[in-house]
Amino acid sequence: MALGKDYATQECSIAHALEIVGERWTLLVVRDALFGVRRYNDFLVHLGIPRAVLSTRLQKLTEQGLLEKRQYQQSPPRDEYVITERGIALWPTLRALGLWGREHVTETPLRYFRHADCGTELGPYGECPTCAIVVPVEDVLMEPGPGLDPDPADSVSRALLKPKRLLEPISV
Ligand SMILES: [Zn+2]
Repeated sequence: MALGKDYATQECSIAHALEIVGERWTLLVVRDALFGVRRYNDFLVHLGIPRAVLSTRLQKLTEQGLLEKRQYQQSPPRDEYVITERGIALWPTLRALGLWGREHVTETPLRYFRHADCGTELGPYGECPTCAIVVPVEDVLMEPGPGLDPDPADSVSRALLKPKRLLEPISV
């Protein structure tokens, strides 16, 4: 039997998760939110995503409780999107996916993710092999790798050229 438009009839947790994060762009929005991107224009410039698609993804991720909309300015009203615990819980999935990409697709590391306390690169589950702990997301330090080739017109990529902790808001 062919799969329907959604996977609701699949008795599988992966299929259920893909109902929320399986659309093109969605995991990249979550990734950027983990990197500390919060503002609409910053997502827009960093992802190079069509405006209508970004608006829909931000709205859906907010409805699903992965992002929380917060007003950061009253006049004129401006909102930012802050990743929630539910969204942060996708970090090990993204870490594993990124390592898979490095091993099977890109070959040259684009970014390193390290335990901020000891500098060891994280394993595929977000764990620190040196300290034998799963590193809390706020203690993950991200650094540019040799394969990174940022677009000079993209202020978020430029901001990410400096080592920073995950979740720490990007200031551009
Ligand atoms: Zn460590």
